[in-house]
Amino acid sequence: MVDKVLGIIGGGQLGRMIALAAAHLGVKSHIFDPDPDSPAFDVASKVFNYEFDNIDAIKTFSKSLNSAVYEFENIPMNTAKTIESICPLRPSSKILAISQDRLTEKKFLVDNANVKTAEFRECNNFKDLVNAFNDFDQSAILKTRRLGYDGKGQLRINKDSNLEEIWQNLDGDKLIVEQYIHFKRELSVIIARSIDGDSKIYDCVENKHKNHILDETIAPAPNLDSKVRDSSKVIVTSIAEALNLIGLLAVELFEMDDGELLVNEIAPRPHNSGHWTMDGCITSQFEQSVRASMGWPLGSTLRNHDIVMKNLIGKEVDLVDTFINDSRYKIYIYGKKDIREDRKMGHINRIIEKNSNIFKFMS
Ligand code: ATP
Ligand code: MG
Repeated sequence: MVDKVLGIIGGGQLGRMIALAAAHLGVKSHIFDPDPDSPAFDVASKVFNYEFDNIDAIKTFSKSLNSAVYEFENIPMNTAKTIESICPLRPSSKILAISQDRLTEKKFLVDNANVKTAEFRECNNFKDLVNAFNDFDQSAILKTRRLGYDGKGQLRINKDSNLEEIWQNLDGDKLIVEQYIHFKRELSVIIARSIDGDSKIYDCVENKHKNHILDETIAPAPNLDSKVRDSSKVIVTSIAEALNLIGLLAVELFEMDDGELLVNEIAPRPHNSGHWTMDGCITSQFEQSVRASMGWPLGSTLRNHDIVMKNLIGKEVDLVDTFINDSRYKIYIYGKKDIREDRKMGHINRIIEKNSNIFKFMS
């Protein structure tokens, strides 16, 4: 039998979990990342340890693949397009381009997908900043358009802020100003779409952050009104269709007090808030991403367990000792070389007992 090979751009924990899921389907993974200590390299059939803009290496990599996925958005566009000229890249470079820039993404969401977001303004000079700030009743968030993750590149501004000082200390990145949203809670939904347009949606989950980093995901989102659940499905479906998605897409949502949903951002890849699917669903988000990328039929997203997922950030990785002997907890360690504050080192899925209505990580 000829080997089936999936290319994964990015060798972090998401790449690692995509590769493990691929292996279960008999698919080999070739992983491209400039960092020789990439955690995904431990589970790859072949590694390509080059810079992302090394086009010769990208061409050789692409020629060895049936299909490719990426585990993060910050990939040079020329690299994505080169891969796509040689083998399928799913989601496509067009979708990647939209998601790389918060302004392009928000405009697309509003204009093409017809969904609601926080109000936003392009910000190219000091006057833009002042105007947006006043438009939003002096309560806003200033974000870099590119390269943000885990809340990096963001600044909350309110009536106590000194805008002139803030502007002088910025380092010339392109910016967007968003209205500050007083949401009830944060939710997310993951959708996959296959080459023939079939789509499958995972249950809507609740996300809790600590220091701007995802701390816990509760699946399904507790006490979710059925109308809100339905509208979350309508929203993700219309985004996936507007994008002409083939692959996996995560959608972060703000739930308002009246049940209205605003889209915060999208990520065309497996998402941290989908790690619960590894133990909660018939098909994990990682397997789904492999299936969609390879052009195979999607798997069932049926939930067979309720789950509370907790990230192990920095030294929290030591919590493993507490849970390793407890059969209700499933442990995942990413094999990163150094423990650093704010670094995602692993996660634990707590499998919630049947008929329990207590959605807690610890009890
Ligand atoms: P991540 O990598 O965690 O997804 P990110 O750096 O890409 O984050 P966002 O998702 O845009 O950035 O924002 C991070 C968090 O900041 C959100 O999960 C939310 O808690 C808060 N936040 C972002 N935008 C707004 C807003 N307009 N109003 C209120 N809170 C916001
Ligand atoms: Mg986010």
